[in-house]
Amino acid sequence: MNFRNFPMVPRVIFGRGSFDQLEEIITSKRVDTSAPFIFLVDDIFENTDLEKRIPLNYNDKIIFVSAGTEPKTSQVDTLRDQITNEFDRLPSGVIGIGGGTLMDLAKAVAIMLTNPGSAVDYQGWDLVKVPALYHVGVPTISGTGAEVSRTTVLTGPEKKLGINSDYTPFDQVVLDPDLCAGVPLNQWFYTGMDCYIHCIESLTGTYLNAFSQSYGEKSLELCNEVFLNGVLPEETSRDKLMMASWHGGMSIAYSQVGVAHAMSYGLSYLLGTRHGVGNCIVFNHLEEFYPEGVKQFKKMVDRHGVEIPQGLCADLTDTEFDTMIRVSLGMAPLWENAIGKNWKQVITPKKLREMYEKM
Ligand code: NAD
Ligand code: ZN
Repeated sequence: MNFRNFPMVPRVIFGRGSFDQLEEIITSKRVDTSAPFIFLVDDIFENTDLEKRIPLNYNDKIIFVSAGTEPKTSQVDTLRDQITNEFDRLPSGVIGIGGGTLMDLAKAVAIMLTNPGSAVDYQGWDLVKVPALYHVGVPTISGTGAEVSRTTVLTGPEKKLGINSDYTPFDQVVLDPDLCAGVPLNQWFYTGMDCYIHCIESLTGTYLNAFSQSYGEKSLELCNEVFLNGVLPEETSRDKLMMASWHGGMSIAYSQVGVAHAMSYGLSYLLGTRHGVGNCIVFNHLEEFYPEGVKQFKKMVDRHGVEIPQGLCADLTDTEFDTMIRVSLGMAPLWENAIGKNWKQVITPKKLREMYEKM
């Protein structure tokens, strides 16, 4: 048995208003006054109070990025080129402010500023050879666990696959639940359900171990408090969901996700369906695999009056179904975690087609 020895985020600050300590945190990491900090910021924050609170000094730069589409390898290369063309030396660090999209972009750009070639070359496991630039994650919506994970999920010309490496995790994370205050209900639910689904897939998977279970159970308990039981004050709910996301991410670090993720990758690749909502669309039809998890999920949907899109696959062609099935079947570790070593006997292309047709 070969046990995985993986890195964790070495520094984290938690608390409402902790964002205002960012300046103090990064100052000691500044190489010198001509090596800027690059802030990659969700463009939803352009001209807001948060923009004014970003601690710019010397030639530091904010680059606003839309989270309207999920991160692409070409987008990472372009951002890297933009930075290297504008500055004649390496920046002091990259700071991502936003949801999973901005977390992943910041991680990937930090890697590509020190490694040659294109982000495409590093999609996979342990292909990054040179440590990334110092990078900081500041999440503004909770659920993906991208703030703790060892991957950055990118869509390339041929595949949607993460850069999984020891250099991917952030050097520093700032967890300020107040930054999540403006998230719209549907998005709050979809991204929050990503966390809930991480827990269910991890806790019911064949890869489960005490490490993953301890984080997964805590995360699930927090998700239930936020989405299912009781009525929490909004601020408490934000605190708890932020920690649920963290623990959910830690839980899958040492296990794996499962059926919902494997199938939602197919939807995302073909139709551009976003991660959170895509997982919800798929999970809604997975009673066969996760009976209790799906039952509770449906209660949460009803409780919050959220709409889960239906009929996405109604008009797809055979070729399009085949593409989704190919992408989904490519996620072997996810299927093995969900079903076991003999998963190929259960999850055939025909079976996947029948499942996709319901969605
Ligand atoms: P997101 O970053 O895609 O953002 C979703 C929407 O919420 C966007 O419109 C964004 O502008 C908006 N938003 C974010 N913060 C807001 C705020 N405070 N107020 C108002 N609106 C706000 O959302 P996400 O669901 O966090 O991330 C999805 C991405 O994360 C996908 O690209 C997925 O592949 C990736 N992901 C990565 C990992 C990982 O481990 N690296 C894990 C899961 C998902
Ligand atoms: Zn996920």
